[in-house]
Amino acid sequence: MSDTDFLLAVEGLTVSFDGFKAVNDLSFYVDEREIRVIIGPNGAGKTTVLDLICGKTKATSGSIKFRNKELTKLRENQIVEAGVGRKFQTPSIYDDLTVFENLEISYPRGRSVFGALAFRRDDAVRERVQEIAEAIFLSDQLQRRADFLSHGQKQWLEIGMLLIQDPDLLMLDEPVAGMSVSERIKTAELLHRIIKDRSVIVIEHDMKFVEDIAHKVTVLHQGQILAEGPMEKIKTDPRVIEVYLGH
Ligand code: ADP
Repeated sequence: MSDTDFLLAVEGLTVSFDGFKAVNDLSFYVDEREIRVIIGPNGAGKTTVLDLICGKTKATSGSIKFRNKELTKLRENQIVEAGVGRKFQTPSIYDDLTVFENLEISYPRGRSVFGALAFRRDDAVRERVQEIAEAIFLSDQLQRRADFLSHGQKQWLEIGMLLIQDPDLLMLDEPVAGMSVSERIKTAELLHRIIKDRSVIVIEHDMKFVEDIAHKVTVLHQGQILAEGPMEKIKTDPRVIEVYLGH
């Protein structure tokens, strides 16, 4: 298989902070419609990998090809435009707006002459908001102010705010942290549904959730890949048990 068959091809990726290689000659490949989970001990480089892909951190060397477009040369906003969405651990939703309004302002407006705050209330936007609200289990909460949502619902809302932009790759940092068991199960259901049109990379510590969602797991340790494969293989790998799962 050549690099061009993958949605994302990361090759020889390295970033040094004052000589310390947080990510060290890393290569991995993500397929279309794949859920990839990155696990590993604290400080392994997981967050830095997502920061590099979304352009928040610039690579020292190596390449990140997304649909064959080199991302390391692009700015953060260009990477979003190329189709990469990133959700951080803390939801960045607008507390004083309703669920509907939060989704509506995230709808890609292109270069609107009315500026970023001009709301488009046309039918296409309303229809898309409704569709996304259903996907994130909030269709009966559309008129609710975001600060009245539960912690889990806020996480879903932020996922919805990214989905409405229709990214080809969605990256999530510990999406089920602090969620109840039922919310975690629904989040797994949500991820399996949305990969019909895209791939997802998830950083996660909750192994039950990892088992529910991962097509493939990449285990990072000291900025490098310790092991990679399906969860059944990963959880019995003695090196993974030693540095991570056994703790
Ligand atoms: P993880 O997400 O796996 O816990 P991180 O990617 O956050 O790990 O961090 C990997 C290593 O890189 C850590 O040792 C961290 O201290 C270091 N690091 C991350 N970002 C920076 C930065 N901007 N400057 C210096 N060191 C950093």
